[in-house]
Amino acid sequence: MAATKLSIIGAGSAAFSLSLVGDLCKTRGLSGSLVSLMDIDRDRLNAVHTLARKYAEELGADLRFETTTSLEDTIKDSSFVVNTALVGGHSYFEKVRQISEKHGYYRGIDSQEFNMVSDYYTISNFNQLKFMHDVAKMMEKLSPKAWLLQAANPVFELTNLISRTVPINMVGICHGHHGVDYIVEVLGLDKNKVEWQVAGVNHGIWLTKFLDDGKDAYPLIDEWFEKELENWKPTNPFDDQLSPVAADMYQFYGRMPVGDTVRNGSWKYHYNLETKKKWFGEPWGGVDSELGWKWYQERQAEIALTMQKVAKYFQENPKAKLLSKETYEEIIALAKDEVKEEFAQGIYKILDPEKKSGEQHILLVDALLNDEKVDLVLNVLNQGTIPGIPDDVAVEIPVYADKDGIHPYKIEPDIPERIKKMYLMPRILRMEWALEAFLTGDRKVLEEFLIRDPRTESYEQVVRVIDEVLNLPENEEMRRHYSSSQG
Ligand code: NAD
Repeated sequence: MAATKLSIIGAGSAAFSLSLVGDLCKTRGLSGSLVSLMDIDRDRLNAVHTLARKYAEELGADLRFETTTSLEDTIKDSSFVVNTALVGGHSYFEKVRQISEKHGYYRGIDSQEFNMVSDYYTISNFNQLKFMHDVAKMMEKLSPKAWLLQAANPVFELTNLISRTVPINMVGICHGHHGVDYIVEVLGLDKNKVEWQVAGVNHGIWLTKFLDDGKDAYPLIDEWFEKELENWKPTNPFDDQLSPVAADMYQFYGRMPVGDTVRNGSWKYHYNLETKKKWFGEPWGGVDSELGWKWYQERQAEIALTMQKVAKYFQENPKAKLLSKETYEEIIALAKDEVKEEFAQGIYKILDPEKKSGEQHILLVDALLNDEKVDLVLNVLNQGTIPGIPDDVAVEIPVYADKDGIHPYKIEPDIPERIKKMYLMPRILRMEWALEAFLTGDRKVLEEFLIRDPRTESYEQVVRVIDEVLNLPENEEMRRHYSSSQG
């Protein structure tokens, strides 16, 4: 079999890249592949490279690795490109959030109705949208048959933008549907007997079918909420799948919101920290509050730092074995107490030959390349799958993949009308506005987002906040893009 080249753009995102490498090592049909790790940060890249090689060696996998800082080099001759880069990093998001808060926009102008996730920017994220669009266009030129697996956010906007404007094979990938596994586990059900479907748009998916042994299992959720909700407390800021918000959204919309959908309710749950605490629980008020996001950012930074220390350890001790007790003790000691458990799970789970990461990327690659048919939940253009949603809107739906491509399952039963009219359509409109702004360069469209924002008290406020964001040094290109108003 000819060697397949798989590229990861933004590969310095260590936890994510190593999950994919772990899955690759455990996928026989992808043996012999070349993994091209691309990032602009050399230190992160080298750390991931060291660890990736270590995993492949210890799992006895036949994989080759290359590192590059060149987009052209990584894309050329590639069959699969996973894009997980974050242009400007999390620090850019924090800058925009600070400016926004100064002008009266709590948690930032990009926190919008049905899109409250703190790193899912659609208004001020020109550099990210442009980069992802450029990567797709470069693929069209250099590797026109390759598949783009879009992992970086905003997955919803990017899947629409790229699918509509660049003629390549592309799909948006997220892991939010694992919220169903959590519900199944908490209810104590046997997952082999549970049949489920989710459908909607990225970060806006709903549990449309939920059967246990062929019987409707929704009454079990009702019973759980009735008995457990009043004593419920989150164990961490992400713990919201069975929270008061989820229960309230379920009551109003008639189906359970799944995964990040719970974070993406209306303003009812997000006006301020006090409101967030009421709905998402104390002490954090959910992961998208100032407290929850700080918790997440600090942990992420600590885990990234620890990964770099571990990589350095293996660079200095190339013969050390991950699986030896002595090495284990030495590398676990590199992690601070508060992230030790998560870090150990992250790094050692990959070595379990029976366990895959739960990410869908490598399963999809194996299906497309080797006809290993698999059921997944992916973002593709609707093309009639969900009635009432336009054909050219990317939906997140259950599909199966094989060598002939990605095939949507029928959504049965359909998504309730209330979800379509009161949740999906308004969210889809905001995606359309973001694309309208990006594709026309008309700053009036950006302004319109905020004119319709309940936090806005005057048009002057809108102009001031947008001016200040556009004046950030890293937004020079964005400033030029939005310099002429066509409105
Ligand atoms: P991160 O900042 O830790 O990592 C991103 C990497 O991108 C960094 O190593 C950075 O150096 C690199 N990068 C930045 N600009 C680049 C460029 N021009 N070319 C190549 N590489 C570049 O960020 P993260 O927290 O790992 O998040 C990455 C993205 O993945 C975000 O958009 C996040 O929202 C998204 N995400 C998606 C899912 C999903 O399931 N789809 C889950 C979690 C996070």
